[in-house]
Amino acid sequence: MSPIDHLAGLFAGEGVRSYLGEDVSLATHMLQAAMLAERSGAPDHLAAAALLHDVGHFAEVGRRRGDEHVDYQHEAAGADWLAQWFPLAVTEPVRLHVMAKRYLCTVEPGYFARLSPASVHTLALQGGVLTDPEARAFEQLAHAQSAIAVRRWDEAAKDPLLAPPPFEHFADALRRLLTSS
Ligand code: FE
Repeated sequence: MSPIDHLAGLFAGEGVRSYLGEDVSLATHMLQAAMLAERSGAPDHLAAAALLHDVGHFAEVGRRRGDEHVDYQHEAAGADWLAQWFPLAVTEPVRLHVMAKRYLCTVEPGYFARLSPASVHTLALQGGVLTDPEARAFEQLAHAQSAIAVRRWDEAAKDPLLAPPPFEHFADALRRLLTSS
């Protein structure tokens, strides 16, 4: 099976059934994030990162066991899994999207107040806000700005009234990004 068909299957199956304490399913959340990226004119690799940023929550990909008091590091699990098919421009924003939340809470007044309750809960498990030196170090990372962009779409992609396009809408762009199939 091609990686695109594999991903499509995850979105259509577990993605539709899974919720992470938000008002939308995991599939809708990721499709909304990609739609918002596309609407803001993001290049394909960033829209792909937005689309795939939470694949580490799929049972097949991550280590999720349903304990809400444990951080399963879905961002690293997702990035490592995606790396079998996609370049760093896609995988590293995925890997850093949790760090980007911790960063934005540090540097941007009011950011924390806009987080969903589920996101506030996981923030604590993920290590809380960054210290100033940690924030400066984060900014130096090669894919930090991409991760911050993905994070902003991530935060906005929890709207039960926003109907995203189907996975298929993004399939051609994903196919063009593949490093192997
Ligand atoms: Fe997310």
